[in-house]
Formats: sequence, structure tokens, C-alpha cells
Amino acid sequence: MKKPLSLVLCALLMLCALPALAETYSVTESGFGGDVTLTLTVEDGEVTNVEIVGLSETADLGGKAMPALAEAILEAQSPYVDAYTGATMTSTAELPAAEKAFAEAGIAVEAPEVEKGEDETTSCDVVVVGMGASGTFAAVSAAENGAKVIGIEMSQGLGGMGNAAQGMFAIDSVLQKEKYGDDLGSDQEYWFNHIYDRTQFLGNAQLIRTLVGESADTVQYVLDHDIAMFLSPQPQQIAHFDETIVYHRWNDTQPFVHMAEYLEKNAVDIRYGTHADKLEPAGDGTWNVICTKEDNGTLTVNAKAVIMSTGSFAGNEEMMRETLGDDVYEAAFVIGGMDGTGLQMLYDNGAAKGELLTMNHGVGPKAASTPDGGGIKVATQLTMNTPCLWVNRQGKRFMNEDLLKDTVEFSSAVLAQGGYAYTIVDEATVNRWADDSYENTGSWIHYWDHNGILDEDGNHTIYHAPISKEDFLADFEILAETGDGIVAQTIEEAAAFIGCDVETLKTTVENYNSYVKAGKDEEFFKSAESLLWTVEEGPFYVTKGYNAVLGALGGVNVTEKLEVLTGADEIMPGLYATGNNLSGISVAAYQNVEGVGLSTALTTGRLAGQFAAEYAAE
Ligand SMILES: Cc1cc2nc3c(=O)[nH]c(=O)nc-3n(C[C@H](O)[C@H](O)[C@H](O)COP(=O)(O)OP(=O)(O)OC[C@H]3O[C@@H](n4cnc5c(N)ncnc54)[C@H](O)[C@@H]3O)c2cc1C
Repeated sequence: MKKPLSLVLCALLMLCALPALAETYSVTESGFGGDVTLTLTVEDGEVTNVEIVGLSETADLGGKAMPALAEAILEAQSPYVDAYTGATMTSTAELPAAEKAFAEAGIAVEAPEVEKGEDETTSCDVVVVGMGASGTFAAVSAAENGAKVIGIEMSQGLGGMGNAAQGMFAIDSVLQKEKYGDDLGSDQEYWFNHIYDRTQFLGNAQLIRTLVGESADTVQYVLDHDIAMFLSPQPQQIAHFDETIVYHRWNDTQPFVHMAEYLEKNAVDIRYGTHADKLEPAGDGTWNVICTKEDNGTLTVNAKAVIMSTGSFAGNEEMMRETLGDDVYEAAFVIGGMDGTGLQMLYDNGAAKGELLTMNHGVGPKAASTPDGGGIKVATQLTMNTPCLWVNRQGKRFMNEDLLKDTVEFSSAVLAQGGYAYTIVDEATVNRWADDSYENTGSWIHYWDHNGILDEDGNHTIYHAPISKEDFLADFEILAETGDGIVAQTIEEAAAFIGCDVETLKTTVENYNSYVKAGKDEEFFKSAESLLWTVEEGPFYVTKGYNAVLGALGGVNVTEKLEVLTGADEIMPGLYATGNNLSGISVAAYQNVEGVGLSTALTTGRLAGQFAAEYAAE
């Protein structure tokens, strides 16, 4: 009896000595530029650690830097730290994520009552609504053209989605002239035709002409405002390798910080944490913009001219569902964005609804889109960026896989299949990729590899053979866990994963193999050089790729002077729109020219600022 009793006592003592069990509660919410995951570690009802990880929520985008927020939440033991009160955080992900994580952990914290601040009325020549990429440039430009300017910005920083962008399109720029001399290899006529053709002539020709013609001056304007730029050493998309490099990149991670200096220098009054809700005519030819301030008070700005720079509607679920359709909206990987109120404010005053579309850009597994990148090292870079066999939900091929050379075009092709599709490679292919001798055979894996993209030390990038098979297999474990991939032993198993008819998939594979062996694709005419790998013996590696939707595009129609038009094509005096709010540059699909989004934003912002200032002065 003695021994068992001492054992029980011992066990009890050990239990007492054990530290309290730490539990973690993770919640992911969509924010500016992607998902944000907030993880609480809780011990004995007390929060002992807070971690916030996001794709591209930065100090400028999300309001406050994430580590600082995490620390504040930990210290306050509450999701309602100072930074979260008021309107500032309503459009970002951290507050909803923190509230949910506290609720899941069973920690009850009451939301503080925010005392309503004072209502305020003010006036100016030009009010810029939305101080993102285009709005910041519009405000500086309007002020430099002599206007008294107020900027309304719902977040705590400048630049909006422009902070995530790396570069802009331009032709005839000073940087291109430095690189190419007098003969750039292409000109404004070429790029106007390229962009306009891709709208199927449904686009706004004057606006496209303005964009192409003014883009070089925008580069100069950027440089003149202390934002360093360089001409990308090579195009970012393989499809543009034979063309003049038009992608002008900024080498500064905080480009809009420089513009902040110019805003200050020109006495632009920026109201951060302020959400514009309503636009109405003031009766004397001027406009009132009615906003909710951070303290919930109302701000009414009376202005001679309004520049609507609110960045379209990617965060407005209803408009996104209307644009993409419910099934695709639910299937695709949609990066959040703006709530569309800016456009609604214009529609409420008679602006015509222009073409609405989305910025489809690339295809990837959802696992890799998680804040930590899903831990995937190499697999999907290869299975989703090489010209291997792609099939849709019916198990049929649907495109010439060489479309992968163009991030935008292949994204559109997958979107047309319902927002996702699958790739299949067999064991022999993976073994070849992992084989030391493979790199000497003259074959290639990734388009980047094929085009000789090297890192700064002259080495091939990670996509070059041989790859580590261990990493590849480890990646497939992650993909299997998230439902984004499978290592199928048989075609039957692959068909079950895809959810398609086995015989259809078998026929697809057989036909595809015959094209590879013959070096001729009878179905979709893929180039012979890309018909590299048959799909013969299992295991088969199947990956599911979802459309990445970077944002929404379009909203209102404008003149080449950025004046907003009614349904009757009449100019709405004093109303201007910029950037992603504009319809007519892209129609149906985002333009495939690198940097068209940012170029449109910065160029139309710069010009709208000038035109609005001139209008106000009149
Ligand atoms: C991840 C990512 C990468 C990208 N990379 C590139 C690239 O390399 N090259 C390229 O050309 N394009 C790129 N783009 C697209 C580019 O960033 C956009 O086209 C551009 O930022 C649009 O500018 P904008 O001024 O219209 O909108 P934004 O820059 O998004 O600005 C909108 C602003 O309005 C504010 N706002 C919205 N509604 C209200 C309201 N009601 N009241 C007050 N404020 C409001 C927002 O807070 C925001 O600051 C990328 C986009 C993403 C998401």
C-alpha cells in the first residue's frame, strides 16, 4: 500500500509544480493588402503574449505598427487600446481580430464608450478624399498650383495600396533615355495601341492617350519630389522580355514619406482617421463633403472642387460579388481594400456607373497566401509557374500553359474556370527537377530560369534545378493539410481530389502526353519548347491554384481632364476622380502592362490636382 500511495502523492506534487497550460487563440481577418492574423497566448485567464502577423499591413496602411499594437493589447489586457478607438481601425483587420480572439479565449472586456467629439465645418479650394497613391499626388499638385487643400484620409497614413506597389509604367522617361539613348525600341504610339487594343476598343481612348503621354512627366515629378526611382533591370513579367522596359521602380520602402514633406511645405491640411461618408451640392456651385472624425464628431468640408481618390471597392463585399459572381468571389483569393463609399458618393449625385472589374494578378495556393507564407519553400513556385499540365474542375485542359508567362493573362484564364484550377506533374518530373545532372541537360524548370534571371551575384534563382526533393515533399504535406494539394498514387485519386470524372481526366492526360511526345500541342497550341513533361506514372503531385485578386478597378467615367461624367455624358462641375476609381483604362481584365495601376494613380492624381486647382481659381 505504501508504494502506490507515495506514487500518487508524487504525481500530485508534480501536477502542482507544472506551469499553467498556455492556450493560443488565432483569428485571421482581411485588412489592407491582405490577411492579418492575431494570436493571443492565454495562461490562467491572463494574456501572456500577443502576436500580429500580416501580409502587407504596414504602419502607413493599417494605422499603427503591428508590434506596437500587440504590445499595447498585452499591456491593457484588452482589444480596446487607444489606437483602436474611433473610426481609425474600422477598415482594418486588427480590431475585429483582437475582439474575436478575446471572445474565443473567454476573456470578457467591454468596449469603451467613445464620447462623440465636436462637429466642425471648414472650407477650402480643393478637398481630396482618400490620401492614397493618387490622392497624395493630387493634393501636392493642387497645392503647388495655388489651391488651399484639405485631404481626408480614413487611415493614419499616406499612400493606401500604393505602399504595396513597387513600380509604375512610363514611356519616354528620362530613365529610359539614359538607358536606351534616342531609340527606345518602342514609343507612345506603340503603347497607346497596346493598351487601347486590350480594351477591345471599349476603353476611354482620351484617358489612355493622356496616361501614355503624361507618364514620363510623372516619373520626372516623382524624381523632383525626392522619391528615387530606377528602371527595372528586366521586365517583371516574362511576356515582356523582348520589349522596352517600361517598369519604373521606386527603391524606397516609404515613398509617400517624401510626399508628406511636400504636403507640409504646401500647408495641406490632412485629416487622418476621418472617413468621408457623403457628398452634397452646397447650392452655390460648391460641394460639401461630410465625414466622420476619429472622435465620432462630424467634419463638413466645403470646397470648390472635390477629387475622389478613394481607391475603388475591393473591400465592399456586395460590389465584389456583383462584379465577380458569388462562386468566384468565394473561391478566389481576394485581397481586401476600400469600402466603395467614395464611388457611392459620386453615384448618389448622378455620376454614371462605369465599367467595374477586378485586378486579377497571378494564381497561387491559399496556403502560401497566409501571413507567414504558409511555410511553402519551393513546390508551388514550380507547379504553378512552369508550363506543366493545367486542368479545370472538369479535369480538362483550358489554356495554352504558355500564358503563365503573363501573370495577368493566366490569372484571367483561371478566373474564367471559376476562380481556381489544378496542375499535375508526375514522380519522374519531380525526380528530374531534383536530379543534380538535370541543370546540365539544357532543360529548364521555371520561366525565370529559362530567361536567365540571376540574382545580384550572378547565380540562378531558387527555381533552377536541382531543387531539394525533401523541401518539395514537405511543401506537399502543408498543401495536403490546407486542402490545396495532394500526392495522389493514381489518376483515380487525383480525379477524386479534383472532383472530376476519372475517364475525362485520363483522356486529358493521355492526349497531353501525346502532344508532349509529338512536340506539338494540337489542342491549345503550346510552344514546342514548353511541351516538356509527360504525366505518366504516379505518384502524381496535384496542386490547386486560386486567383489572386489584388483589388477592384473602375467606378466612374471621366474626361481626359479627370472630370466626372453623368450618365448623359455631362461634366459634373467641380468633381474629379483618380486612380482605381476610374473606368476606361482596363476593360474586362486588368491591363497586362507592368505598372499600369500605379502609373494611372500617380499620373491622374498629379493632373487632377492641377485641373481642380485651375477650376477652383476660376
Ligand atoms: C499587393 C499589391 C501590389 C501592387 N503592386 C503594384 C505594382 O507593383 N505596380 C502597379 O502599377 N500597381 C500595383 N498595385 C496596384 C496599385 O497599388 C493601385 O492601383 C494604386 O494604389 C491605386 O491608387 P488609388 O489612389 O486609386 O488607391 P489607394 O492607393 O488604395 O488609395 C485609396 C485611399 O483612400 C482612402 N479611403 C478610401 N475610402 C475612404 C473614405 N471613404 N474616406 C477617407 N479615406 C478613404 C484609403 O484609406 C486609401 O488611403 C498593387 C496593389 C496591391 C494590393
